[in-house]
Amino acid sequence: MSYLLKVVEASTHSDAFRRIVFTGKGIGPLLKASDGDAYVKLFFFPEGVKPPKDADMKKLRKSLAPKDRPQSRSYTIAAVNKKDKTLTIDFTRHSNGGVGSAWAETAAPGSWVYAFGPRGKYSPDPKADAIIILADNPGIPAARRVIERAKHPKRLRVIFDTTLSHEELDLPEKVGSVTLIDSTRGKTTLRDEVERLTLPRGDVEVFARGEKYVTKKLLGQYFRELGLPSKRVSISGYWGAPKSDKKR
Ligand SMILES: Cc1cc2nc3c(=O)[nH]c(=O)nc-3n(C[C@H](O)[C@H](O)[C@H](O)COP(=O)(O)OP(=O)(O)OC[C@H]3O[C@@H](n4cnc5c(N)ncnc54)[C@H](O)[C@@H]3O)c2cc1C
Repeated sequence: MSYLLKVVEASTHSDAFRRIVFTGKGIGPLLKASDGDAYVKLFFFPEGVKPPKDADMKKLRKSLAPKDRPQSRSYTIAAVNKKDKTLTIDFTRHSNGGVGSAWAETAAPGSWVYAFGPRGKYSPDPKADAIIILADNPGIPAARRVIERAKHPKRLRVIFDTTLSHEELDLPEKVGSVTLIDSTRGKTTLRDEVERLTLPRGDVEVFARGEKYVTKKLLGQYFRELGLPSKRVSISGYWGAPKSDKKR
């Protein structure tokens, strides 16, 4: 199902994020998304191309000339306000180019985008003895959703690779531990930090979202070596760093 989302508020939340608040007709199913990592696919159309209202994105894509086709990118539903019927997405600001970040940088009330979803595949297990949550900036909105939905926040061990400070992140107070690193400033990575963590005893779950090489290769390998059951390890590569930047 696709939805026409209209921007009602857009602000530069920090050096790291543009925060955009959307509304739209019939977006109830997006507001009810319950997965810990619930996300939408956003369709960005080229300048000057506006699809008809209530268009079926899949059919429309095929019927348009290649130059008029939208490009899609995935974004987490960072927050919803059921009373105002709005949803918020936090877009990472980056200077590597790309339709998603470029659109967010200039979006203002009245701007629009099409969304498809919601989708998601993880929710924190209330029975887990501990949940290790690892994310970089694009993964932080999903990590925050998971933190907000965790039944036992004291059991969470959070490590973020981010330029944001504790104050800017403003995570719930009861989280077991929060460690911030900034791999753009030093040599430490999410993998280095997770290796330093004393793994809690019992049933440990992992939620990792971020750069593909770091999450899938470095972190995936580490948790396999540790022997954690694969069904307790939820890892997803959210973006791919340019080749020269891969070994962060
Ligand atoms: C399920 C899911 C949920 C996601 N949720 C979010 C979210 O809530 N917020 C969010 O910001 N991102 C999120 N992402 C990641 C986002 O979809 C990607 O970062 C996407 O590539 C951004 O598109 P773009 O058009 O800006 O750049 P692209 O056109 O995809 O890439 C252009 C260039 O920019 C680089 N690049 C892409 N993303 C980044 C980045 N974040 N930092 C630095 N360089 C980058 C690429 O390496 C490439 O060289 C999510 C991804 C998935 C799969």
